[in-house]
Amino acid sequence: MLRPVLQYPDPILRKTCLPVIEIDENIKNLAVDMLDTLTTVGGVGIAAPQIGVLKRVVIIDVSLEKEEEDVPQDFRVFINPVVTVLDSRPHEENEGCLSVPDLRAKVKRPSRVALDAFDLDGNPVHIEGSGYYGACMQHETDHLDGKLFIDHLSFLKRSLYDKKMRKDKK
Ligand code: ZN
Repeated sequence: MLRPVLQYPDPILRKTCLPVIEIDENIKNLAVDMLDTLTTVGGVGIAAPQIGVLKRVVIIDVSLEKEEEDVPQDFRVFINPVVTVLDSRPHEENEGCLSVPDLRAKVKRPSRVALDAFDLDGNPVHIEGSGYYGACMQHETDHLDGKLFIDHLSFLKRSLYDKKMRKDKK
């Protein structure tokens, strides 16, 4: 089912999500709703809090690993994901977020990371990546701790965006 995507500055986006203890029907339904929402609105990833559920579940397009344009998208569900930095040298990618409308900005993050999690059957899964793929793993996992990519921007850029958002709301 398609669910509305919460938009910045919704306070839910700032909450810390709870770990999934049991992969039950609720979690499976949550994953279906996240996937429906992501494929409808378009994007490379989504985190549960973006549809208002404070659980540690993300979906990432693992086809990004191939770094090619015309590879079909391949969405995977990651439960209780943990990111480990493999190479801390900074790397910059142009990021955007379904919850932060009308903004794309360059964000510096560690260049290579691993992500460990569980799939919907409870099996451990491990992926690694750099570039846009690695940035995506970090971006989605950040959501589970109430962090948004705009937190990485300079104070000036951030203030300009906040000002624009307030203007648009009026
Ligand atoms: Zn996001």
